[in-house]
Amino acid sequence: MKILFNQPKRENDELSLEIDAAIKNVLKSGIYILGNNVTTFEEEFAEYCNTKYCYTVGNGTDALVIALRALGIVKNDEVITVANAGGYSTTACNLVGATPVYIDVDKHRLLLNVDLVPSAISPKTKCVIATHLYGQVVDIKKLRALLDAAGHTEVKILEDCAQAHGATSEGEKVGSLGDIATFSFYPTKNLGALGDGGAITTSCEKLAERCQSLRQYGWISKYCSTVSDGQNSRLDEIHAAILRVKLKQLDAYNQKRRSICTHLHETCRGIVDVVTTPNDDHVSHLFVVRHKNREEICKTLNENGIATDIHYPILDIDQISMNAKSYRSLELKHSNQATKEIFSLPCYTGITRAELDFIRQIFQTKISVITKE
Ligand SMILES: *Cc1c(COP(=O)(O)O)cnc(C)c1O
Repeated sequence: MKILFNQPKRENDELSLEIDAAIKNVLKSGIYILGNNVTTFEEEFAEYCNTKYCYTVGNGTDALVIALRALGIVKNDEVITVANAGGYSTTACNLVGATPVYIDVDKHRLLLNVDLVPSAISPKTKCVIATHLYGQVVDIKKLRALLDAAGHTEVKILEDCAQAHGATSEGEKVGSLGDIATFSFYPTKNLGALGDGGAITTSCEKLAERCQSLRQYGWISKYCSTVSDGQNSRLDEIHAAILRVKLKQLDAYNQKRRSICTHLHETCRGIVDVVTTPNDDHVSHLFVVRHKNREEICKTLNENGIATDIHYPILDIDQISMNAKSYRSLELKHSNQATKEIFSLPCYTGITRAELDFIRQIFQTKISVITKE
């Protein structure tokens, strides 16, 4: 048996008739950019996230850049974030000229440790990017309370929800918990297009207006530019039409991911430590485990046809592209330790019961032997 790490094709094949019809409708309409599908998807996604506004953009990284610019973040402003979340916030900070300030993650879930935020604040701090990593939710309410209690009411919270579409905290959806939030619709995300796509949600009218201008040349209306640093970053009509089809499935997809996560959790119990333990709030974007003998375990899994991956193998501060002068960092003990031990198992809506059973069989017969040593 060969089990790929990801296979969005399986999910999309199941909807092929509806997706075909959506594409045909765009062809028939002759409207390709910022038409009815984009507007309607934005309304539907804002409603789904329980926010007043949603503006779509070209991808999740553009969403971060535009959200930072909408918040008024400029060169040399500081943005507090983590170093273990794939480098997307770092890329966005670099693009706006902001200085990322890295703090450590909590030991078990590997999410931004909100308790460390106040001590990382300087007079230049404008924003905290809270990444809902692996589909788990950062405690935004606590973060806001900690910031306010320390007198930093002006520091904004940006949620990066690229791995967490539909996740909740005390019943409230991610995307609505902070000041502004960003999403990616990259094909393997919980809500994935057939190409690149992204979105920004907020309930603040001023921020929403700025995002709408920033994604299209800084325009307030056609050919009239009022906001500097505008760019061109739009979701295509064709992708919006496809995402409208897939949004209807998102809750079912997330439910399926949670049940896969539960199955994998049982598979791993007593053999390797599970980072993304199942719960009703998170949406199991990735199933992440850890063990000090990662190399040998992954080698054995791969030899038996089971793909693995590492999210992520290099901390932002250790990337060759990083210039030590361009960031500030506090101690990253748990981030560092986790980076040496974590790996991810296949976890996506299209995985079959037979494949999950096969993974369990290999864990019981082969991986358990390695980890007992
Ligand atoms: C995928 C991802 C992004 C970037 O999205 P793109 O659409 O690939 O630009 C940003 N943040 C996180 C946490 C992601 O997983």
